Amino acid sequence: MADIRAWRPIIFSCPTTGDRVQGLLPGDPPEPSADDLHSISCAACGGVHFINLRTGAAVDPKRS
Ligand SMILES: [Zn+2]
Repeated sequence: MADIRAWRPIIFSCPTTGDRVQGLLPGDPPEPSADDLHSISCAACGGVHFINLRTGAAVDPKRS
């Protein structure tokens, strides 16, 4: 069996293009030390963004 867990789809706004992008987040909570951020590949700009797992918002590490 493949390692398929309960992924949950989210919609976030790409901070680069401003487009709304659908992504998948793991259903399980991340490790506690991960600061609630999850890296996700962006279909809009091809980059990687960090999503705040609590708010579902894209986070730009350079601005925070
Ligand atoms: Zn993007």
